[in-house]
Amino acid sequence: MIPARYGATRFPGKLMQDLAGKTVILRTYEATRDTELFDEVYVVTDSDVIYQEIVSNGGQAIMSQKQHECGSDRIAEAVQDMDVDIVVNVQGDEPFTSKGSLEKVLKVFENDHENLIDLASIMTEIDDWKEISDPNCVKVIVDEEDFAMYFSRSPVPYPRDKNVSVQYYKHKGVYAFRKKALMDFYRLPMRSLEATEKIESIRYLEYGHRIKMVVSNAEGIEIDTPEDLVRANKVLKEGVESMTVNNKYRNFPMVPKVVFGAGCFDQLQSILTPERKANAPFIFLVDDVFRDRSDLVDRIPLRFNDQLQFVSADEEPKTSQVDQIVGDIRSEFKITPSGIIGIGGGTILDLCKAVAIMLNNQGSAADYQGWDLVGNQAVYHVGIPTISGTGAEVSRTTVLTGPEKKLGINSDFTPFDQVVLDPDLTKGVPTDQWFYTGMDCFIHCVESLSGSFLNTFSESYGEKAYDLCKEIFLNGDLSDEESRSKLMMASWHGGMSIAYSQVGVAHAMSYGLSYVLGTKHGIGNCIVFDHLEEYYPEGVALFKEMKKKHKIELPTGLCQDLSPQQFDIMMDIALSLHPLWENALGPNWEQIMTREKLRELYLKM
Ligand code: NAD
Ligand code: ZN
Repeated sequence: MIPARYGATRFPGKLMQDLAGKTVILRTYEATRDTELFDEVYVVTDSDVIYQEIVSNGGQAIMSQKQHECGSDRIAEAVQDMDVDIVVNVQGDEPFTSKGSLEKVLKVFENDHENLIDLASIMTEIDDWKEISDPNCVKVIVDEEDFAMYFSRSPVPYPRDKNVSVQYYKHKGVYAFRKKALMDFYRLPMRSLEATEKIESIRYLEYGHRIKMVVSNAEGIEIDTPEDLVRANKVLKEGVESMTVNNKYRNFPMVPKVVFGAGCFDQLQSILTPERKANAPFIFLVDDVFRDRSDLVDRIPLRFNDQLQFVSADEEPKTSQVDQIVGDIRSEFKITPSGIIGIGGGTILDLCKAVAIMLNNQGSAADYQGWDLVGNQAVYHVGIPTISGTGAEVSRTTVLTGPEKKLGINSDFTPFDQVVLDPDLTKGVPTDQWFYTGMDCFIHCVESLSGSFLNTFSESYGEKAYDLCKEIFLNGDLSDEESRSKLMMASWHGGMSIAYSQVGVAHAMSYGLSYVLGTKHGIGNCIVFDHLEEYYPEGVALFKEMKKKHKIELPTGLCQDLSPQQFDIMMDIALSLHPLWENALGPNWEQIMTREKLRELYLKM
């Protein structure tokens, strides 16, 4: 429902202003309808002019019967006799309302099995003091679970101590209600906090209701002033990309806590204790290879109803496997676990991240493969690598093979809350495997350092990891202990390097191999990289030296017996990874990496 009042106080008639050839209200209506998220979209208005504008352009509009103080009352009147479940209030003056943010606010209800949430709304991170102190910008503060504590036009919280870092949030005027909640609130008398701030959402708080806030940084332009209109016109004429202010530089999360050192695994119990919630177990997902290794298993601090599950790393993680583990945990424990602890290589770490996400998000893991599709924070999760190289311990992704694609769940909620880096845990890794996983790190560096997305942030991490790899795999005068420690840090730095850039040709092709043949990531990268001297001359030359030094034999003839269909699927999977190719070959990559060229490369393998 899009409430639309003709006579806005600050900018009268703004909804009927021209925005690159269409009125503001019609653009808002069409943008909302085109998200295809809703069964019905209506404009609810007191104005004949707005009503005609929508209806004459093929839209649906409703005239409100009564005078209303606020938009929610207007839509409450409109839906009172409709059979609806969730009602979303989209502001008429937000023609750029994005599908992503509406999707996020709807997802809140999917996960609310016990109907605890009456309404949800959106907030956006803001950092500019001018905006924070601007009374036209409504700020919101939230509790630990993102429930709103207060909305204000004043800067809240007040930054008395400038050294405490806080994130300020701006409230976006999008609400999603259960119908019952909307009807309950309808015409509740206004109280004084709302009256003085002139902020409608305060009313719900004043009556003791909880508003779940969802962060969405896809910021469009709200048409509040004539200047906004000028800006919006410019954006529409110059292309929509320039609109999302937060897209210019990536703002990505890092692992907030990490402990490093031989033997630090024994600190696990003291690390977990403060995170333990009453009756809620920790679930330990441990690589099956440790099943008989009491030197590790006996040190896992199982308490109360904690659960240890051994998981095989013979195959790379699948979305169906994640769904299975999540389903089992949900049916065994009525309560959400205190945390998920992954102990193993990239396979187990990725599973752990995905399970932690899916415990708080509805549906299948396959629904979230892609960039920023996750709506709710993951359960607390800890990564403890036992083999080094993938960088999965720091990365913002969890790579999964789904029914249709091999793609990560790349989101702000993916990274671990805690990582335990104990080089001793990597003792006992077989030499071949040590090499393959270690080379994943080396290849990450080569691909990141030679990519077009490189910036100084990535470069500084990538160079360090690259040098460490050379020391470990070529120089050969390190003790085992030094070598384990250095490789563990190389993996970390390699992961950080691609966090702000991307991988490239070897990874794209190796994903294709893995999808069709089940070739594992580490060895798959090596098989591909061995033939990529045309793209990475220096890196491939070094790789060949390392391979020779450690007497590694790679399989050959992998693609010889593939059927034409298998070949096509393999190429489709590889070519679908646009950011990887663009990083490696630049914006015109499609002209360089044609299907023929790709086939030729694969046939060498
Ligand atoms: P892995 O987890 O598949 O483990 C490889 C083998 O080593 C397994 O057989 C495992 O049982 C064994 N192993 C692990 N630790 C051992 C130990 N201490 N002693 C003896 N054996 C041990 O291998 P990996 O190369 O670490 O991970 C590959 C996976 O990581 C792939 O699924 C890939 O998609 C993923 N990956 C993820 C990211 C990311 O950013 N999320 C990045 C790169 C790779
Ligand atoms: Zn990799």
